[in-house]
Amino acid sequence: MSERIFVGVAWPYANGPLHLGHIAGAYLPADIFARYHRLKGNEVLMVSGSDQHGAPITIRAEQESTTPQEVAAKYHQQFIDCWKKLGISFDLFTTTGTTNHTQVTHDIFLNLLNNGHIYKEKMLQAYCPKCRRFLPDRYLVGTCPYCGFTKARGDECDECGKPLNPWELKDLRCYLCSTPPRFESSEHFFLRLSAFQERLTGWIKEQTHWRHNVLSATWKFLGEGLKDRAITRDLNWGVSVPQPGFERKRIYVWIEAVIGYLSASKEWAKLQGDDNAWQAFWENDAKSFYFIGKDNIFFHTLVWPAMLMGSGGLNLPYDVPANEFLTIEGKKLSTSRGWAIWLHDYLERYDPDPLRYSLAVNMPENGDSDFSWHEFLRRNNNELVATYGNLAHRVLTFAYRNFDGAVPTVGELDERSKSLLHTAKVALDRVDELLCHRQFKESVKEAMSVAQEANRYLDEQAPWKTIKIEPETSAKSVYTVLSVLAALKTIFYPFLPFSSERLHSFLGFDGSVKDEGWKIQFLPPGQRLQQPQPLFVKLDEDIVAKESSRLDSLNENRKIES
Ligand SMILES: [Zn+2]
Ligand SMILES: [Zn+2]
Repeated sequence: MSERIFVGVAWPYANGPLHLGHIAGAYLPADIFARYHRLKGNEVLMVSGSDQHGAPITIRAEQESTTPQEVAAKYHQQFIDCWKKLGISFDLFTTTGTTNHTQVTHDIFLNLLNNGHIYKEKMLQAYCPKCRRFLPDRYLVGTCPYCGFTKARGDECDECGKPLNPWELKDLRCYLCSTPPRFESSEHFFLRLSAFQERLTGWIKEQTHWRHNVLSATWKFLGEGLKDRAITRDLNWGVSVPQPGFERKRIYVWIEAVIGYLSASKEWAKLQGDDNAWQAFWENDAKSFYFIGKDNIFFHTLVWPAMLMGSGGLNLPYDVPANEFLTIEGKKLSTSRGWAIWLHDYLERYDPDPLRYSLAVNMPENGDSDFSWHEFLRRNNNELVATYGNLAHRVLTFAYRNFDGAVPTVGELDERSKSLLHTAKVALDRVDELLCHRQFKESVKEAMSVAQEANRYLDEQAPWKTIKIEPETSAKSVYTVLSVLAALKTIFYPFLPFSSERLHSFLGFDGSVKDEGWKIQFLPPGQRLQQPQPLFVKLDEDIVAKESSRLDSLNENRKIES
């Protein structure tokens, strides 16, 4: 029976380009998972969008002497181009700037207010006497009271990941002019998060299928005791507060960003011409998965579930498979220091599948992992080109030339050939199991091991030798490897969608891999093959030196604040 799978992916701030840390952290695993479930015949709704609000956007607009709208529009378009080129298959990638999003945010806000989960209280808000403005949390810097990091922001510490309130920071100053702010009283709405402590604890206890890192971070927050959180700010850029007297305030960006999952689902439904179609993904036995980086755990495992509990009627997350961080060449990725590899920049020069492969095989699932150009080159040349690509290319070329451009017709296969086909079947089932449990790294390694095994078989069978003396034996080994390729284009499809589609057509199949389902597609003898082309391109050794110097120069020249 087909399942309904909701895939929510972190909302990127539209204040700067995407880098490989974003992709390894959330977008690639979400896409692999969505593609896998679509192949399984499940109904999938995968949504996200640009986060147009929040201080990172207004800071960027001030730096570039433009408006937040223009900053957001520019990066939103760049995100959409990147998704297309990298094959990130959103059902909808929208923005938080739509009237639909404002409407849905207001609905949730009012539900929470009417149910008594939101209350009004005066709080102290930082005010810069020099800039003559209230300072949102991200406009404040100071020393983290937990780890001593001297550049912690007013909302969280980038070093230790703790969510913070501005008044907790030591040596607090204005981000724009370094003046110490004064605190002035201002009325705000608070989410009564403390009241959910017990209910959330009970619910988290049941989530034994979550990743260890996600559970331990969540238990840590619960152990410290949940505190009520201000959910409005003194700002003029963001979603309005649907209450009189709050015209000059906005809903806190983190609160409305998580509501984006729901508003995007509703927008998708309207675009389908069925306003209620979203409900199937949010109610009853539908399962929802939230793919995020580890810095977003608090808002996805505690705040958003509390809001859903308080608002009522919608499913809580089934899993929040948050990834750890990606380092670049052994160093912590930092957009402010320009130590990052930008996705659009990569995609201008290289193919998408090698990046998808190298990030998947080394995904920061259970701990931080590193991306280096040397490793990228090695994965591309030794694994994609020399193992998988070479297997496909040599057997397809051989079949094309020696069997009249068609899949050879064979009698009963020998035991060795049957055993290889069995290996492919076992791998299909194993990857099925692994992907179902969000174990991406192991899945892609399993798939590559089948290609390795098939290469060994091909070398040992040497159909190019047997063709002259025993053409039937040659035909059997060629048929066997072509059948393994028919399995591999499916097993690899969630990871390498572009190469899988090409291999699908080289094997003479019509249509698309995604329509064939999670099974080994039978290869009919006599099926016309297409003139094969190499699946992957071998890269020059000198890219390592070139890319390293490029990274160094970006590191010196770019001074962009995250
Ligand atoms: Zn100032
Ligand atoms: Zn800290």
